[in-house]
Amino acid sequence: MQFCSRCLYSANHPLNITFDADGVCSGCRIHEEKDSLDWSGRRRTLAQLLERYRNKSGGGYDCIIPVGGARDSYFIVHTIKQEFGLNPLLVSYNRHYNTRRGHRNLAYLRTLFDADIYTQVVQPQIVKKITRETLRLRGSMYWHVLAGQTVWPVHVAVRYKIPLIIWGHHQGLDQVGMFSHLDEVEMTRKYRKDHDLMGLEAEDLLAQSDELSVPDLQAYYYPHDKEISKVGVRGIYLGNYIRWDTKAQHEKMINLYGYETAPQQRTFDTYNDVDCQHYSGLHDYIKFLKWGYGRIVDHAIRELRFRRLTREQAIELVRRYQQVMPADLPMFLEWLGIDEATLFGWIDRHRDPRVWERQSSGEWRLKHSILEVTPSHDQRKVAPGVIDPCEFLVTRPRIKDEPERRAILVDRGYVDA
Ligand SMILES: [Zn+2]
Repeated sequence: MQFCSRCLYSANHPLNITFDADGVCSGCRIHEEKDSLDWSGRRRTLAQLLERYRNKSGGGYDCIIPVGGARDSYFIVHTIKQEFGLNPLLVSYNRHYNTRRGHRNLAYLRTLFDADIYTQVVQPQIVKKITRETLRLRGSMYWHVLAGQTVWPVHVAVRYKIPLIIWGHHQGLDQVGMFSHLDEVEMTRKYRKDHDLMGLEAEDLLAQSDELSVPDLQAYYYPHDKEISKVGVRGIYLGNYIRWDTKAQHEKMINLYGYETAPQQRTFDTYNDVDCQHYSGLHDYIKFLKWGYGRIVDHAIRELRFRRLTREQAIELVRRYQQVMPADLPMFLEWLGIDEATLFGWIDRHRDPRVWERQSSGEWRLKHSILEVTPSHDQRKVAPGVIDPCEFLVTRPRIKDEPERRAILVDRGYVDA
């Protein structure tokens, strides 16, 4: 198994990765554009693009911004509304695993920015039914979230004739250098299916499941091509036009708007995903069981590429967080009504055989671990040195916080005093 000589990604990355003669991966090479592109020029290109959509919908909204209670939502709304002066309609898919902090971040977001929001809340019983099936078929507890949050904004765009959707950064570009920033890649149904949904669109799920019916999956079907082209819907990624640095962006949002952060179970990144009880817990542990690495690797690599961690420091962080057992496991099992053996039985079927092997004792062993890899190339040649510290802030809650005990299944439309 080949590992990048600079970062920690290996050849089994699910988004596909390539390596050059120096053993440096495609993700690391594309990241170098962040320090070589003319970002003022990129920003002017964005300004021209946005200008074409001002007052286009007739309904008073210039664009749609998909948001949640974390993950760059504040930064995107701030940039589009405060810096470029557009009037966005916020659109949110309720992922059902909300934290109180996530509810507060989202409630303050629309209050602080005087923005309207369209939220979709699918019935809890349907969400459970779908989650059981996607766990069984793909080892995924998060399919409904990934499917819902990538298609609900497109439905709203079609229904209210608001052609422009503005997303944050493109994961395939950021992690594995699937595209250059200059390609200005846009949202596609194909990328959603192949990568976000692991090849499983609502239609495929319906065909492979005896439990689900067409009405169950209503919220997750992609609009027809004809509807999309009639309105001219397109989805752009802000990261192609603005030098994307999620750490710096969140710190700006903490200072300007009091964005709330929180410690996470399986990563040092206290900024992203604080709105979800499972994303950095069980969901991430499942990712590790399937692919042999978790979000800690993604986060450590991101910080390493921004020259805030050495390779050794990044590996130490992986060592510290990789095996952490998620504390939210009992809550999830109770909510879904299954036991631990059933859950992990489903997951085991989806472990990547390139990295995992089952020993005669029945225990799983990681055949290739970044913790045991000796770099293939001289680090002085392939890795630039550290220039900034890698410190993540933990903010105080806006109000006295209660412990999270159960999944909160519905949206809250108000802010506590
Ligand atoms: Zn790399």
